[in-house]
Order: sequence, then C-alpha cells, then structure tokens
Amino acid sequence: MASKNRHTDGVVETCDECGRERPHEVGIELLTESDDGDRENAAFSREPYRVAECQACGETTTTRMNDA
Ligand SMILES: [Zn+2]
Repeated sequence: MASKNRHTDGVVETCDECGRERPHEVGIELLTESDDGDRENAAFSREPYRVAECQACGETTTTRMNDA
C-alpha cells in the first residue's frame, strides 16, 4: 500500500466510465513491458506510464508517457 507513487492528486479530467469530468488521483509508474526474454534489454523495457484513477468510480486509465 505504501509502494504507490503519488506525484499529484486532485486532477480533474474526463472519465470515460462516468462520462463526465471527475477528480482523479494521478501518478507515474514504471512498468516493465513483456519482452522476448532478452535480459540485456530488460533495463530498457521499463516504460513510464501515467496512471489516473477516477475517485468516483475507481476506473484506472493507464497512458504510456513516451508514446510518439
Ligand atoms: Zn469515473
């Protein structure tokens, strides 16, 4: 429970689940993407994701940060 990163909170944005603007708790998490088992690339497969949790319905939206 203490491992959850909280960089910002109280961000109001549209929730697809609610269909309207809701307060969200937003944080950045490093998630390891699945790879082909190549250990040397493991360090490079950790991508930062923006995670926003709707405080009204609990829906979690995960967005890849470096999506070009
Ligand atoms: Zn919602």
